[in-house]
Amino acid sequence: PKHIVIVGGVAGGATVAAQLRRLNKDIRISIFEKGGQIAYSNCGIPYYIGGIVPDRNSILRDCQDFSDKYDAAIHLYTEVTSIDREKQRISFIDLKDNKEGYEEYDHLILSPGASARIPDIPNLNAGNCFPIRSIQDMDHVHQFIEESSPKTALIAGGGFIGVEMAENLILRGLNVQLLERSKQVMGILDSDMAELMEKEMRDKGISLLFDEELAAVEDGGTTFVMKSGKRTEADLLILSMGIIPNTSLAEQSGLKIGETKGIVANEFMQTNDPLIYVLGDAAETVDPILHKPKQVPLAWPAHRQAYIIANHIAGVPIPYKGTYGTAIVKFFDLAAGMIGHNEKTLKSMETPFKTEVVEAKSHAGYFPGSMPLKIKLHYDPVSRAILGAQTIGKDGADKRIDVIAAAMKGKLTVDDLQEIELAYAPPFSSPKDPVNILGYMASSKNINKE
Ligand code: FAD
Repeated sequence: PKHIVIVGGVAGGATVAAQLRRLNKDIRISIFEKGGQIAYSNCGIPYYIGGIVPDRNSILRDCQDFSDKYDAAIHLYTEVTSIDREKQRISFIDLKDNKEGYEEYDHLILSPGASARIPDIPNLNAGNCFPIRSIQDMDHVHQFIEESSPKTALIAGGGFIGVEMAENLILRGLNVQLLERSKQVMGILDSDMAELMEKEMRDKGISLLFDEELAAVEDGGTTFVMKSGKRTEADLLILSMGIIPNTSLAEQSGLKIGETKGIVANEFMQTNDPLIYVLGDAAETVDPILHKPKQVPLAWPAHRQAYIIANHIAGVPIPYKGTYGTAIVKFFDLAAGMIGHNEKTLKSMETPFKTEVVEAKSHAGYFPGSMPLKIKLHYDPVSRAILGAQTIGKDGADKRIDVIAAAMKGKLTVDDLQEIELAYAPPFSSPKDPVNILGYMASSKNINKE
């Protein structure tokens, strides 16, 4: 039978294995994972640390159970070290006993993910400095909190993981400072949207240090020196400064790396070697909005790409149509949703755009529990295509970003938004939903202009 070898056994790797088996009973599947777990839910890591998800096992998957269910050979603690494309075989090292070996493939699937960006600064390995990427990282932080009862934490980096960790460390009773080299948290949001998140963070007692970068760790790990020379103290450091796609294996074997530093994939997720596929955080695909290369480290694309690859290998070519980058983050009651391009990326690409902002209520104002909801939407003034959107609020931000995501996928224009017939009763929305209002606003300006 055909042998499919998969490198990386978590979001992309495990999902593609399951999809392959669903479509084909006869193939051999082998998964190589250098860590000690497969198919776990990385996205649950911050919530286990904070205690919102109390059961560690609920985010893990039993390896034997997975192996039995999908009839896949799983090699844990085994790192794939090289690819011989001519001989169609990979070399690996078993990290437990340092034994090396090789395995031949008919198709190779790379889902090696990404690594946390770790700054090159002195004394970072003081024992209280942790990236947040794997189950091992999660266990280290959890154990440190249980055993050392830290009172204060410094989070370096204010993106998704920094914000989620801030909430979860507060829930564990820590006093949190967050350091960010730019002038705002959540660089993916426009600054006026990020400000609402920042206000909420300050209200929860977090001190935000902007325009600062970590430069050194001193005093056995409790004093942190910043580029400006300013110093701060904390018992625990979380490194959430972004990620770097794991591409060295691909690079060494001559697979093409793109401008986003991801491994270039075609519409069927094949690399420049048609026998080798790539998916997940390490893959570069396209932005369906402006048709530029894009690398999006999120779970939705990894799962969709797994489906595309499994079908392609089974002889059913379904193209991957690109990644919009729909995402959402929660900080206590507040949620911020986003899709597509923000002001900064549109300006940097010199793409003409117009913007509508609506500040509405999540549902009928007279009905208890309605909350302020802000939505911002960027669109092309000529084609009227939606280029990006952001939502923020304590209720309904998730629903609105998903409605806009569906509108973008369906290639609706900004003017079409007024025509989407959305469900209304007072506890849920208003007879004109805030998404409808964006459409009315944009088209009334357009009519007035004409
Ligand atoms: P991974 O799931 O990271 O798997 C890659 C695996 O490959 C790793 O286990 C690695 O050990 C292994 N590997 C690498 N190189 C080799 C090699 N040479 N040999 C063998 N094995 C190798 N996304 C969302 O959409 N929503 C969220 O809320 C969200 N929250 C997140 C929270 C955290 C803390 C983290 C870390 C990520 C979160 N993500 C979230 C991102 C999401 O988890 C990733 O996009 C997704 O896991 C990518 O899948 P992947 O298969 O590319 O990489």
